[in-house]
Amino acid sequence: MKSLWSETTQLPERETLVADLRVQNVVIGAGIAGVLIAYLLQEKGQEVIVLEAKEVGSGQTKNTTAKITSQHGLIYNDLIKNTGIERARGYAQANEKAIHIYKEIITKEGIACHFEELPSFLYSQKEEGMQKLKKEAKAAKALGIDAEYIRGDKIKDLPYGVMGAVKFGGQAQFHPLEFIQEIAKKLTIYEHTNVLEVDEHFVITDKHVVVADNIIFATHYPFPIVPGYYFLRQHQSRSYAIAIEGAGVPEKLDGMYYGIDRGLLSLRHAEGKLIVGGGSHRTGKKDKMGGFCYLREQIQRYYPQAKEMACWAAQDCMPHDRIPFIGRLSMKHDNWYVATGFQKWGMTTAMVSAMIISDMIVGKENPYVHVFSPQRLLIQAGFKNFLIDAWESMIGLCSGVFAQKEQRCTHMGCSLHWNEEEQSWDCACHGSRFTKEGETIDNPAQSMI
Ligand SMILES: Cc1cc2nc3c(=O)[nH]c(=O)nc-3n(C[C@H](O)[C@H](O)[C@H](O)COP(=O)(O)OP(=O)(O)OC[C@H]3O[C@@H](n4cnc5c(N)ncnc54)[C@H](O)[C@@H]3O)c2cc1C
Repeated sequence: MKSLWSETTQLPERETLVADLRVQNVVIGAGIAGVLIAYLLQEKGQEVIVLEAKEVGSGQTKNTTAKITSQHGLIYNDLIKNTGIERARGYAQANEKAIHIYKEIITKEGIACHFEELPSFLYSQKEEGMQKLKKEAKAAKALGIDAEYIRGDKIKDLPYGVMGAVKFGGQAQFHPLEFIQEIAKKLTIYEHTNVLEVDEHFVITDKHVVVADNIIFATHYPFPIVPGYYFLRQHQSRSYAIAIEGAGVPEKLDGMYYGIDRGLLSLRHAEGKLIVGGGSHRTGKKDKMGGFCYLREQIQRYYPQAKEMACWAAQDCMPHDRIPFIGRLSMKHDNWYVATGFQKWGMTTAMVSAMIISDMIVGKENPYVHVFSPQRLLIQAGFKNFLIDAWESMIGLCSGVFAQKEQRCTHMGCSLHWNEEEQSWDCACHGSRFTKEGETIDNPAQSMI
């Protein structure tokens, strides 16, 4: 299963780490977050290397849908209610700025990556959803976003009628691997160099040891269990995408679309194809509205004449309070940084991570540090999600005690669930995934079964 992006890009191979090194900054992980953090650090005059266990962009990033947007589902009305107007404004402005910086970098570096400016739409088919969208438009506008509520009959790109939508202007989409390929050319990246352990300033890999002033964990899910306790602060959710041709829609849509009611589709165009997304579920807990089966049923229903060209899946970390963790990994280590919890909006929030972490390292003030600080307190609204996750973990850990070794996660020992569709063993506690043979596919697990 290769994504449209992997099908159309061949990133050059990089050498592995061949000697011990001493550097100012080491970034662990060469996904969109790691590459952007390294790029902005280097732009600010810092010496930086990136260590990647597999290949550049080969984690979740190769399987994104690559909308570059500050429209992260229904979020702004809730953020204002739950965290106050200042934090909500900081979240909105940081993500809007991220879009702007993408544009600046792409122009400055002359990167051909199918970057297109387009509006982004959240839509609903329900009366209740329409009311929520109206509130969302008002909240986003109050935070400085170019947002407006529009009537459903004005939306022409969707295969079904909708009641209403929120339109955000000034958004964009691109080809993520074409972008990374160009950015990465400027960076020193060692591939097939797996970081096994980090101890103060020492980064111990399966090849050699790197000593660094600053260590940045951009591994999607940070692998240290302690400190940081990220396993208590987020879970992983999986989503699916299928690229189709001959769907009977214009080659270019008027925008990018995301449905807020359960089961509605996410849509964008790319290279003459329509990318249909959806089928989300907690990793390890697929139900009848999750996975490729559900998505294929929807495509059959709404685009019966279309031909499937590619299909892929990915997952992301979902923090309890719906704000990514960007900044110091823990109070215990001044020189450890983290970027995680992107809740399926990692194109902009990876850029926000790069802005914040690079400023923190060079000692420049950044207005968004407190918004995303991993040291923030859990808000009341996030407490409900904490309880759900704690419950899932407890069930997983208890059943793990009785599970056979080959059905137990190597992260914390939770029991694994067989995923027939993707032929993998998946953990519902923290989202690690393994092949049938026990090789790790997705972290936080570090070792094979
Ligand atoms: C289906 C789907 C669609 C999405 N669509 C969008 C979208 O339209 N717009 C948007 O903004 N976001 C979207 N997202 C979210 C976005 O794709 C992710 O947030 C983003 O790709 C995460 O990037 P990352 O760099 O954090 O992680 P990754 O890309 O997973 O990179 C982490 C890297 O770290 C490496 N690594 C891990 N452990 C180690 C180790 N011990 N040593 C060395 N290297 C290590 C891995 O090999 C990997 O390459 C989507 C997510 C999903 C699930």
